[in-house]
Amino acid sequence: MKRIYLNSDKYQYDIHSLFKAFYPEEEVKMYPGEKVDPEDENLCECSAIDIYEDADTEEYVEGRIAFTWINGKITGEEELYVRNYIDYKSSSKNENASTNGEISKADTSKNALKKLIYLVLSDETGKELPWGNLTGIRPTRIAMNLIDKGAGDEEISDYMKNTYFVSDEKIALSTAIARREKEILKDIDYVNGYSLYIGIPFCPTTCLYCSFTSYPIGAYQNIVDDYIDCLKKEIDYVAEDFEGKTIDTVYMGGGTPTTLSPEQMENLLQYLRDKLDLSHVKEFTVESGRPDSITREKLKVMKRMGVDRISVNPQTMRDETLKLIGRRHTVAQLIDAYNMAREEGFDNINMDIILGLPGETAKDVQYTMDEIKKLNPDDLTVHSLAIKRGSRLAEVLRSKGIDGSLINNTEEMMNIASMGAVSMGLEPYYLYRQKNISGNFENTGYARQGKAGIYNILINEEVQSIVALGAGTVTKRVFGNGRIERCDNVKDVKLYMEQIDEMIMRKRELFKL
Ligand code: SF4
Repeated sequence: MKRIYLNSDKYQYDIHSLFKAFYPEEEVKMYPGEKVDPEDENLCECSAIDIYEDADTEEYVEGRIAFTWINGKITGEEELYVRNYIDYKSSSKNENASTNGEISKADTSKNALKKLIYLVLSDETGKELPWGNLTGIRPTRIAMNLIDKGAGDEEISDYMKNTYFVSDEKIALSTAIARREKEILKDIDYVNGYSLYIGIPFCPTTCLYCSFTSYPIGAYQNIVDDYIDCLKKEIDYVAEDFEGKTIDTVYMGGGTPTTLSPEQMENLLQYLRDKLDLSHVKEFTVESGRPDSITREKLKVMKRMGVDRISVNPQTMRDETLKLIGRRHTVAQLIDAYNMAREEGFDNINMDIILGLPGETAKDVQYTMDEIKKLNPDDLTVHSLAIKRGSRLAEVLRSKGIDGSLINNTEEMMNIASMGAVSMGLEPYYLYRQKNISGNFENTGYARQGKAGIYNILINEEVQSIVALGAGTVTKRVFGNGRIERCDNVKDVKLYMEQIDEMIMRKRELFKL
């Protein structure tokens, strides 16, 4: 366990993320406002860090960031304390500091601290992180902002390297993606347009790693019609309050929308078409992620209703792993569902895969990529598994005696996936990171030219308002100056239905002028 003692709760999130990135297997506990107790016996088994804005006075001094690194049991303070600080504004530094002048006057105090910690931990572990000290979830935003200011590739590269220590490879990836995103979004109406999200929070069964709002359809079947009625109420609100605005994209996700029966699906989609003007919609996606929920009849309904992009998600092409993670469908079912969708005329099909699944090695990832290549999807999203301690998956793995260290994405796996995607003619077009992501990597979407998921970019870059309907969904209003305000619908499906009028009121409040 890593214990981090902070003299305030400032920068707590960033420090935690940075430690987690260097020590993915360890628990990192934060103690804001507490000091290291050298008498604490537990320290013999952990490392601790004590951060001050000034190491000598332990008070804030403009331009000086310092921290104390304690590693192991404290027996003789002099040997074990390495006090690092840097007066980065005046460029003088402590001789113990291992920063080699890499922190400059231009840095904000937050970034100076992150650089300092990065350099010390990199020394300590012998590791360099592909994303450097970046702890945010949207690294492409940095490249995007610089492009907007007219920066060229070299300037972007210098900035990302000097400010965040990002690797050359990740700089090239984020710059290429940012340029692609700008091209794809060039016709989006940010002023008068919006996107619509509709959440269907039901799934055939709950996958063990699930972090979304999802209820097993079997047990909730009897409330689905009432749930659809609530969605219709929300659609009525959109029709009324957004009249005259343009819908750029529609995304139905969840959950698994294809758990609806063909009749329910038709009823909902027809209502949507009757109430809203979909004539400007550039992309209409329905996630049909679980192959065990797809039928020919549902595909026909979606096609008839104007859905032009779907997801059929394998996650892995190994049946043993699917069983282990609670997907309850087979690879054969996936292939059948995919072929059926092609037969019904879907020419933009996305597939999701997850790297770092329990027990899977680079060989398994290669196998999955080879099998997917035979199917030739238009869009492939590569996720790194994010396992939460205490999640059902973590518990099940423990009970099966599966070594936690096997749940690890590696650079080799990432390379196999990206090379595989490129060999299918797909290019990376969006990217995001998330907390606890396996191996400190990222999730990347690849697509064939002209098939990139526009909604994925919009939600990731947060550049357009998204009106979200359904339990557990989040509506986002993006103002002209880039300010973003959100409003959540409650997650609990029954509460959502009980409080539907309040959900609508909240959105009305958010969008009022
Ligand atoms: S299909 Fe997706 S939303 Fe449904 S349980 Fe699995 S991970 Fe969760």
